[in-house]
Amino acid sequence: MEDNISKIKDKLDIVDVISGYLKLAKSGINYKARCPFHNEKTPSFFISPERQIWHCFGCAKGGDMFEFIQEIEGVEFREALQTLAQRAGVKLEYSSDLPRDDKTVLYEICETAARFFEKQLYQSNVGKRALEYLKDRGLNEETMKEFRLGFAPSEWESLAVFLRDCGYKEDKIIDAGLAIKRDGANGIYDRFRSRIIFPISDLNGQVIGFTGRVFGGDEKEAKYINTPQTAIYDKSRILYGLNKAKTEIRREDKCIMVEGNMDALMSYQAGVKNVVATSGTALTPSHLRIIQRYTPNLGFCFDTDQAGAMATRRGIGLALADGLNVKVVEIGDKECKDPADYVRKYGSSWLDIVSKAKPVIEFYFDKAKTGFNPNSAESKKTVIAILAPFVKRLTSQVERSHWITQLAFFLRAKEDAIEADINAAKDDLEIYNNQNQPAPKVEIVTASSPSDILSETLLSLIMKNPDLFKNELKNISSDWLDEYTAEAIAKLMEIDPNNLGEFLKEFREKDQSYKLEFAYLRSQELWKDFEDEDLKLQFAGLIKKTEERYLKNKLENIELDMKATNEKDKKMTLVAEANKILSRLGEVQKI
Ligand SMILES: [Zn+2]
Repeated sequence: MEDNISKIKDKLDIVDVISGYLKLAKSGINYKARCPFHNEKTPSFFISPERQIWHCFGCAKGGDMFEFIQEIEGVEFREALQTLAQRAGVKLEYSSDLPRDDKTVLYEICETAARFFEKQLYQSNVGKRALEYLKDRGLNEETMKEFRLGFAPSEWESLAVFLRDCGYKEDKIIDAGLAIKRDGANGIYDRFRSRIIFPISDLNGQVIGFTGRVFGGDEKEAKYINTPQTAIYDKSRILYGLNKAKTEIRREDKCIMVEGNMDALMSYQAGVKNVVATSGTALTPSHLRIIQRYTPNLGFCFDTDQAGAMATRRGIGLALADGLNVKVVEIGDKECKDPADYVRKYGSSWLDIVSKAKPVIEFYFDKAKTGFNPNSAESKKTVIAILAPFVKRLTSQVERSHWITQLAFFLRAKEDAIEADINAAKDDLEIYNNQNQPAPKVEIVTASSPSDILSETLLSLIMKNPDLFKNELKNISSDWLDEYTAEAIAKLMEIDPNNLGEFLKEFREKDQSYKLEFAYLRSQELWKDFEDEDLKLQFAGLIKKTEERYLKNKLENIELDMKATNEKDKKMTLVAEANKILSRLGEVQKI
């Protein structure tokens, strides 16, 4: 494995790899770009060709080219390795006696379980009943086989026993999310029992989890259950069906998003294959990021009930905040509550319905026209509240005035009154603007920034000119720093600054992290134009923040100790200690 990685790194340059995804600008010996992992206006994402690493000063992400591919493509290391090997023209060599890592075992368990469930659907008695039920819902066997539907028997341990017989340990079966440990007793039992099983795959088509729909057992149980978060299944990043749909999404330059697994399957079967389902989890900004890799055009078709309407509005808010072009697919038959119902009833005319998806503003306006009485004052307010956020977001003046005219006509009001109302209306979609991790301001650290950034900034200053801080560093107590930073600083003091590159390499190999490299990049970029005097000022400020952080931590600990004790003497001692710290904190903050 190591060998594969170094072969690829020898052949590829990180700048070339990243420039395939981002627009880069030169910044001294480095390159910069707007970070693709958090929203920002000015670039704080840097690439060092010298060190072959990237790092964002804003969201603190970073790593080598493999980590970049993993992050931007949302894939596991193995797929990043394949992607880059292909680019580099390196043939991957695997040695067979390599110990299997934990994730590999989990993939194997999920695959074995998927086969077990599939077999049950076609061979067991209850399974066959489930199969009939699915056919009755409109699914054909071809689709079921393509998506590997299965059935989990009602016994408490049938899968667990099977997997154990295949040689998997109980704790691994639990880690894969397939079994639960018995309370206060030995052994495990199956998570999925008496359920129709929908395997969930990653982008490579490897099974990583399951959704189970109750069937034939206790109907009081939750209708749907899912694999919990595991080392290979992150529900906030997985969209059901995407592995099958991704090619079609690119080709059509459009993605249709539905709520349930059955909706996705029925849509696929009816010929709309660019479809994914959120499948039991709320839509997240990560989901949308993943879709954006394939297309900027998204069509929602959620259930027609009230919950579906709310989920749609929320999805639209998130998608608009992420800059996607959003449309809504309207089912339009009151007897069909979701796409699955529609396809079952009308078959391939689903294609027409999807092609007639409406821009959100049109969708809500049409709804208003049929759902509200334009003569009631209350309705007028509601209609404006629903539509204003969309009208406000229109950048084209022509479109804007078109909709204002339409609204004025419908509500029988003057256009300028409508416009004033729109401008004054509350924007209920605004709350979604910040859900994609608000961009931390990139500047010299504040006291509230995460510890890591504080340490990174401190190290970056020292690297800029170690000699400059030799004396100051004597005044720093090692208690103020985490072990890593303290060790790194001690080492930095010993080395010849000309050998920094070699030192960084050794340090990375030893502790397997990029922390020092990141600090070095920060040092090159952030302190580029600083004179020694300015550096000293920055350093003093940083040390103050470091001590402040240390004192505040200590106070918190004392508070916890106070809560934990009833002894009067001990309490007094703690109070005295706290007072000392408080007075020191006061001094520090005055500096
Ligand atoms: Zn970032």
